[in-house]
Amino acid sequence: SLTLGIVGLPNVGKSTLFNALTQNEVLAANYPFATIEPNVGVVPLPDPRLDRLAEIFSSQRTVPAVVSFVDIAGIVKGASEGAGMGNQFLANIREANAICQVIRVFDDPDVVHVEGRVDPADDIETINTELILADLQTVEKALPRLEKEARTHKDRRAALQVTQAAKDILDAGRTLFSAKAEIDLAELRELSLLTAKPFLYVFNADEAVLTSETRQKELRELVAPADAVFLDAKVEAELLELDEESTRELLESIGQTEPGLYSLARAGFHTLGLQTYLTAGPKEARAWTIGQGWTAPQAAGVIHTDFERGFIKAEIVSFDDLSAAGTMAEAKAAGRVRMEGKDYLMADGDVVEFRFNV
Ligand code: GDP
Repeated sequence: SLTLGIVGLPNVGKSTLFNALTQNEVLAANYPFATIEPNVGVVPLPDPRLDRLAEIFSSQRTVPAVVSFVDIAGIVKGASEGAGMGNQFLANIREANAICQVIRVFDDPDVVHVEGRVDPADDIETINTELILADLQTVEKALPRLEKEARTHKDRRAALQVTQAAKDILDAGRTLFSAKAEIDLAELRELSLLTAKPFLYVFNADEAVLTSETRQKELRELVAPADAVFLDAKVEAELLELDEESTRELLESIGQTEPGLYSLARAGFHTLGLQTYLTAGPKEARAWTIGQGWTAPQAAGVIHTDFERGFIKAEIVSFDDLSAAGTMAEAKAAGRVRMEGKDYLMADGDVVEFRFNV
């Protein structure tokens, strides 16, 4: 499955957040047989549609989609110079599908900041610099080869051009993801560049930031076009110990309406370019994870490879239509239930029943 790699300077709250990510019971309840590696934190994607489906189909339980985060420990500064741990750090990032940077924006005189002050822009630059330098090495190594290939193979000219453009962006100290409007990142895929991965920023905040829209707007602008999430990692860890009532009270006291892990799960899912479709029956109402732009047979394959191989058609109703109709029979009577074939592109929130040969 796709993962977000958690990075950040020391003492910003990575471990605190990661512990909160690994300790949620929803997951243990729904995936009892999943072997979860110690450095992977898996969070359920909150989805109120599942409760509504369970109501409509009298399902016994709901099974949400999940988002996986990998804890990428290791040094940051000097990583691109390639000393032992630095290499490992970069190799771990290369394996992740997106980069999730935790940034400290909380004030606490008892927690030492490695650079002696809380400065989000500077922290982002420290991490970016290492990733940019590593990408520059990759690009500079690839360019002579691409130049040679482009001389003899016309179809390699686009790859050469985009790699030269990438070098200019990196030379200017920018990440490729931040320049995604100017450059075709898909053309660069063969180089597995670190800064071409989607970025997500988690601002580990205190109440002052969590209740200030102005401050959050500034920070969002700092990281755009990447997504930003604001949460208090320490509070998130405390929430896991509390019942529903106390959870609500604690969140209210810092001006929040839901746990920050919920927004983190949603943002992570979005950053990875994922979407869900839904199935429901008496046993369970369930969300399944697929990529954007996937066809119906590909989506069926997530449930079982036989479903993809033997795919005939899919009976589909959008969640909104089904919910408004109240029952499957009513949705059918209203002409809202469609039969879709193998070229159908799935939409988020499709409620599906696959027909297949075995
Ligand atoms: P890491 O080095 O990035 O993994 O950071 P840790 O999670 O170990 O946190 C470093 C210190 O900051 C610990 O003493 C945490 O208790 C504290 N800390 C983490 N998150 C917060 C927060 O949101 N607010 C405050 N005040 N302290 C925090």
